[in-house]
Amino acid sequence: SLPIIYAITPTYSRPVQKAELTRLANTFRQVPRLHWIVVEDSPHPTDLVSRFLSEASVRATHLHVPTPRRYKRSGLPRATEQRNAGLAWLRQKYQPKTSHHLQRSGAQPPVQQEYPAGVVFFADDDNTYSLELFQEMRTTQKVSVWPVGLVGGRRYERPVVENGKVVGWYTGWRADRPFAIDMAGFAVSLQVILSSPKAVFKRRGSQPGMQESDFLKQITTVQELEPKANNCTKVLVWHTRTEKVNLANEPKHPQDTIKIEV
Ligand code: UDP
Ligand code: MN
Repeated sequence: SLPIIYAITPTYSRPVQKAELTRLANTFRQVPRLHWIVVEDSPHPTDLVSRFLSEASVRATHLHVPTPRRYKRSGLPRATEQRNAGLAWLRQKYQPKTSHHLQRSGAQPPVQQEYPAGVVFFADDDNTYSLELFQEMRTTQKVSVWPVGLVGGRRYERPVVENGKVVGWYTGWRADRPFAIDMAGFAVSLQVILSSPKAVFKRRGSQPGMQESDFLKQITTVQELEPKANNCTKVLVWHTRTEKVNLANEPKHPQDTIKIEV
């Protein structure tokens, strides 16, 4: 069967949240063997997201972890704790199970936990994902990369590929980054996630825009990256951002006769 795709989506409560999740669900619903790991930036699972996922017709796991208040500042990386919660859930789900029965008998070798072929991808809730992107990432052996549109102050950023290998980065922003790539520009095999259990997104010592590099350098090298999307010549994902909604005309006191979830 097809390798399973785990899409880890951090999300937080705001006026556009349900609209963003709706767009995402409409995409993910069309992707075979996709498991959506939705991680709310919240101390509790919210009713809005719980209800939404129960009716979304997408296989999903609903997690939550609040960002500590000291990290809720502009200029600091977003969703570090939420992405790590997604990784922790995967590592817990597939953690090696030792069978005491078998071990005590001494006759059998240690039990090797079975896990499916899989790919892990970090899917922010406001980006735009083509269906072709998922076909590309599904064949990831270790870590695969591809261009991202509308990011870094350019129409696109992309890994520069020569003879099938990544040799540099076409980027307009901090070209000195070891992996000058957006969160939406790479996928990691489940095997790599599980065999590097300490690889996580970092708060300490992490500079703005270095989340991706700090994570990737724990698990791979530029030389071994697998270029996708026709040797990184096609844009299949866009770093779209949703305009802040104008709620200037909201009534001070509730005026409608009914309460509506938006
Ligand atoms: N996010 C979050 N908590 C926050 C801010 C953002 O969980 O306080 C999530 C957001 O829903 C998105 C991801 O983190 O999935 C990246 O945030 P955003 O899209 O605002 O970042 P940018 O597009 O500026 O990189
Ligand atoms: Mn975004």
